[in-house]
Amino acid sequence: MFVLLRHLQHLRRSAALPAPARGGSLALRHVDCGSCNGCEHELTNTAGPHYDLDRFGLSIVASPRHADVLLVTGSVTTRMVEPLRAAYAAMPEPRLVAALGDCALGAGVIGDPAQIAGSADDILPVDIRIPGCPPTPAAIAEALVTAIELTR
Ligand code: SF4
Repeated sequence: MFVLLRHLQHLRRSAALPAPARGGSLALRHVDCGSCNGCEHELTNTAGPHYDLDRFGLSIVASPRHADVLLVTGSVTTRMVEPLRAAYAAMPEPRLVAALGDCALGAGVIGDPAQIAGSADDILPVDIRIPGCPPTPAAIAEALVTAIELTR
């Protein structure tokens, strides 16, 4: 067990993430608005034991009522416009919106079919932009750690 913990500590250092923020935390609520699941895969890796978002005070929660940040992935489909607005409306103030991935940022990765209403920016005020298709776990972690500063 000790060897395993030492190995995990080494892996965390090799990820070269910034030092943990002091005195801050954010609860994240993820909403998939039409993703191919690539962004979710990387988000799952970010929350896993290698990057371990919890050590920075970042946790993924099940309800927008408990969230500080709404994490949007995918181009927003017409069917997801109202659920996305409802999730945002349920969040307490102050609240932030993060667009995770090129689709959420409106880069048009999957073209412009009639079922796509637009980017996250077209629906909600986006505060945090995390580009990439998909963004790497390190990029996601760094952007979210930086976001703690926005709430101070
Ligand atoms: S940005 Fe890339 S990985 Fe993410 S949902 Fe769009 S196509 Fe998939």
